[in-house]
Amino acid sequence: MASAAASSCSSISMMFLTHSSAATSSTAHRLLPPGCLRRRRLHCHPLQMGPASLRCLTFPSSAAAPSPPHVVVPHASLSTEVNTKVIDGKAVAKQIRDEITAEVSRMKEAIGVIPGLAVILVGDRKDSATYVRNKKKACESVGINSLEVHLPADSTEEEVLKHISGYNDDPSVHGILVQLPLPSHMNEQHVLNAVRIEKDVDGFNPLNIGRLAMRGREPLFVPCTPKGCIELLHRHGVSIKGKRAVVIGRSNIVGMPAALLLQREDATVTVIHSRTSNPEEITRLADIIISAVGQPNMVRGSWIKPGAVIIDVGINPVEDTNSPRGYRLVGDVCYEEAIEVASAVTPVPGGVGPMTIAMLLQNTLISAKRMHNFE
Ligand code: NAP
Repeated sequence: MASAAASSCSSISMMFLTHSSAATSSTAHRLLPPGCLRRRRLHCHPLQMGPASLRCLTFPSSAAAPSPPHVVVPHASLSTEVNTKVIDGKAVAKQIRDEITAEVSRMKEAIGVIPGLAVILVGDRKDSATYVRNKKKACESVGINSLEVHLPADSTEEEVLKHISGYNDDPSVHGILVQLPLPSHMNEQHVLNAVRIEKDVDGFNPLNIGRLAMRGREPLFVPCTPKGCIELLHRHGVSIKGKRAVVIGRSNIVGMPAALLLQREDATVTVIHSRTSNPEEITRLADIIISAVGQPNMVRGSWIKPGAVIIDVGINPVEDTNSPRGYRLVGDVCYEEAIEVASAVTPVPGGVGPMTIAMLLQNTLISAKRMHNFE
């Protein structure tokens, strides 16, 4: 495996694939697909920029009107002083968490109810334990009660179901999340179906997805990662209505619900998957691209229509000998190339990732408000 140059899409080796959502995590080992061929210089990396260098990355965020580079436009919704070409998921997530904190405290003062999120973790996977710890910390940071049960890997499915049933009946619990993957002797679908739909803050219940797909129906919860993608577009002032959108990936937890959400917002949506024969050609037509594939730097600059807006969901660890950890995270989109063509791009890390957990907190708050008829 070749090692990855610090700021290049070329010569990247993928170490492993981490697949995570509010509720899921799995690790697979794959080799890198054909790497990026060209290498472009990134004049100022968004994660290393100060206010001065931020200015050189400032673009209007509308996908409809491709704009010349280096134009400063005031931002519509973010409270930061400059509008940037980089869609800063960390800043947006912080803003949302602040809003949630205020709402949680208003609810507590008004009716004495504190939203509660229960997480069930089975087994000793380190990555799952980390996700659960992060969710717990996030809950604490906004004032949401966090409950947790950690069962050994050899627990029976009945034991897990017993805990779900307890949380289903517990009025202090407004959201239940089963950390995936479960040990292989358990039937994941069976376990997930046991979560009461009113507490299914992950939004994976087929009834929720069905409602998402139907006109005039409202899901109780929207799955966290795709919801975060749409929220990023809204808060960055990107208009979706009438736009041509391409979603790359059709998984139940990201790609498929992301496509449904874009359609609900009146975009014209095309979904690309592993059997699509001309993904580059199709993607090049898009005003908005959401990529959730799990292939490092698959989407190259040549795939992108000038002025398009890109939401990169992919989180792909690739070998990097310059990093103390020996690897770094990259998205599905070749960031250095995308930033030169697109009007706005999410970085990896710091784009969609922080939004997923913010949306989980938001869904828990929504659930508590709904259960207590609190406006
Ligand atoms: P997944 O279940 O493995 O689905 C991947 C999708 O990509 C599938 O629909 C697959 O097509 C498609 N695909 C695979 N290779 C392709 C190719 N060469 N060309 C076109 N399509 C291709 O993955 P996922 O759970 O959706 O996650 C996708 C990525 O998002 C991963 O990197 C994951 O770590 C990341 N993720 C991030 C967050 C976050 O919070 N930021 C949350 C969840 C996931 P088929 O259906 O034909 O197989």
